[in-house]
Amino acid sequence: METPLVEVRNLKQYFRLKRGQIVKAVDGISFTIEAGKTFGLVGESGCGKTTCGRSILKIYEPSGGEILFRGENIRGFGRRRQAIYRKEAQMIFQDPYSSLDHRMTIDDIVAEGLHVHFPKMTRKERRARIEELLEVVGLTPEYGSRFPHELSGGQRQRIGIARALAVEPEFIVCDEPISALDVSIQAQIVNLLEKLQRERDLTYLFISHDLSMVKHISDTIGVMYLGSLVEVSSNKSLYKRPLHPYSQALISAIPIPDPAANKEAKRIKIEGEIPSPINTPPGCKFSSRCRYRMDVCETMQPPLTEIEEGHFVACYLYHDKEGEVYADPVVG
Ligand code: SF4
Repeated sequence: METPLVEVRNLKQYFRLKRGQIVKAVDGISFTIEAGKTFGLVGESGCGKTTCGRSILKIYEPSGGEILFRGENIRGFGRRRQAIYRKEAQMIFQDPYSSLDHRMTIDDIVAEGLHVHFPKMTRKERRARIEELLEVVGLTPEYGSRFPHELSGGQRQRIGIARALAVEPEFIVCDEPISALDVSIQAQIVNLLEKLQRERDLTYLFISHDLSMVKHISDTIGVMYLGSLVEVSSNKSLYKRPLHPYSQALISAIPIPDPAANKEAKRIKIEGEIPSPINTPPGCKFSSRCRYRMDVCETMQPPLTEIEEGHFVACYLYHDKEGEVYADPVVG
């Protein structure tokens, strides 16, 4: 079996607050991303998805666990290897406006990474590269002399993508890259990301709070709740048969294009608010909001267990505390 490009093993990212309390932003998650594929990471705001992306990019030092990049533990990177990793792994941000320096022209923004990672590039070569990058993301070279405030949201996100591509990365963390854009523009940006992936063999971690957004771009999807992965599955299997009560509710909330079918569709309402990551409930973290809650759910966090080939869930409706799968699940 080929080594995955990215492997996250039991990643923990805890933050200590001023009053000494510990926030478990990411609490022991594991997943892999094969080269050239997209892993969609989904969950409500504050569930730890962005923290996970930032840990993979080494913006945070993990509190526990390991992150491997092409089989190498990134924790052990020395200065030289770290500098190369900054080129190999890039990020596209949620808000293209605040992530671009308003005082810089588009040319300068795209050129920043070129100065750092290709210092021997001549001015003429850099110019040609910037123009090529603008074309790749669907803009003309004339945009180079403009400032971010002169562009639309979609155009600014194209600049964010050009900036990430400038250093020729292999892996990109796309952190909610379309959620700040108009619905009409979202499909264009997803199509662009897919085209770039095919042409450049890119690997993505695509973070979103909305399962409808990751549907078209992800090969595999991980559903996160309160710092933990509650379900991991191929795209097809998850939308066809979501297992975890949380995933079922998220998928039931996806609007259906046909207005009549949308009106008739059965929605599953999640009760209450997401609990604080400081005081997580004992046992299953979703238990305070789950309509199927049983006594066992409050005893121990359910282990992420393979129910069908490649389809994992952490829920006592399908398996016991040791991860033994029930022949006759409680539901489903
Ligand atoms: Fe609900 Fe229990 Fe499954 Fe948690 S383990 S999602 S509380 S049924």
